[in-house]
Amino acid sequence: MPMHRVLPSLVALALVACSPPSAELVRPLSGAVQVSPFHPVAVQADADVELTLAGAEAEYVDGQWWLTPTTSLAPGQVHTVLVNGVDRGLSFTTAELSSRQVGTVAEVIAEVDDARSASGSALYDEPTSAEQDAFAASLERMLDGDWDVDTALAEHGYRWDALTEPGRIVVWEATPTSHRGAFLFDFAADSGLVIQAPHPEYDTHTGEQAGDTFIALEASALFVSGAHRCTSPDASACSGTTSACGSTAPFKISDAAHSDQSFFQTAHEVTATHWPDSVAVQLHGFGWDGNEPAAYVSDGVAADDAGSIANTVRDALNAELPSTYTAASCADASETTRLCGTTNTQGRFSNASPETCATAASVASNRFVHLEQARDLRDNQREPIIAALRSLGVPVPDLR
Ligand SMILES: [Zn+2]
Repeated sequence: MPMHRVLPSLVALALVACSPPSAELVRPLSGAVQVSPFHPVAVQADADVELTLAGAEAEYVDGQWWLTPTTSLAPGQVHTVLVNGVDRGLSFTTAELSSRQVGTVAEVIAEVDDARSASGSALYDEPTSAEQDAFAASLERMLDGDWDVDTALAEHGYRWDALTEPGRIVVWEATPTSHRGAFLFDFAADSGLVIQAPHPEYDTHTGEQAGDTFIALEASALFVSGAHRCTSPDASACSGTTSACGSTAPFKISDAAHSDQSFFQTAHEVTATHWPDSVAVQLHGFGWDGNEPAAYVSDGVAADDAGSIANTVRDALNAELPSTYTAASCADASETTRLCGTTNTQGRFSNASPETCATAASVASNRFVHLEQARDLRDNQREPIIAALRSLGVPVPDLR
């Protein structure tokens, strides 16, 4: 082979060997501060490049590297991803947690309970659609591991704080003013359940019960309303009526389960969308007459459906609860039921209603459980109820 034909390819080979492998931080975006120490870090790089991040395991999935913390990266520190053992400037800073720690789940729930706006106080401040969109964007960023949202949350008087238990944080009001709710997340969760207490005061002790359930099931999120459902005198635009606040009337705008113009609805829609395998479990309470089922379970649609998640939970409750209590399913036409949650705006969203505020959903997605409970169940039967919900066996959402 003539010399002049060999030389160029040798030069090309030498260039390939010397140029550093290209690697680009995809998530978190460089420049962001306060990155979640619990989330996987994504890097765009060739499959044969060796990436190293202290405290994380590397895995190549679908053209992208994921560096997943084995438990948690050290908070409040700069972390560098090494490329073939070399620092090529791929670094980010994890969020400082210790300086903003606020206590345990139970302590946070108690604080939210203390700060809740009272029935008839008119202290609930309904968010605008623009505020809901901005709040959704902040939550989305946090679910993706970008916790540099202090400025965005502060626009609504909100902030995030770490709980004592590693992996858990709460997004709530810095000073309770608008009473739009508290939103807890567990980024070390085992279960893709989202526990919700929209009526923590009117449905006595469902907030505390939701906290216990969140912990015991290692659920991914917990939402607690910041307002008593009858705080506001103003009617919700959403369909349905109740006698909860006096004579039968439309729901109030402060009723977290019956207004789509709320942070509670926003948080539900964000998590239901972001974690497509998640199931929301909403805890309610009702005045039991002693001669009826002590629990009514609904999927939010309440059409006769043998495969409904409501039947699954009903069966599990009947297996776990003391024999003095029975549970009935709104998805079983052979049972007499009430309080089936078909006007619930979170349920309507999960069940793909074309218009969550005005229109009941027609087909259950089996991603929403509406549980109505007699008082003794909320107070003294939390363990059997937790055991029944555990049987749902929901996987943790992948690739947070
Ligand atoms: Zn309720």
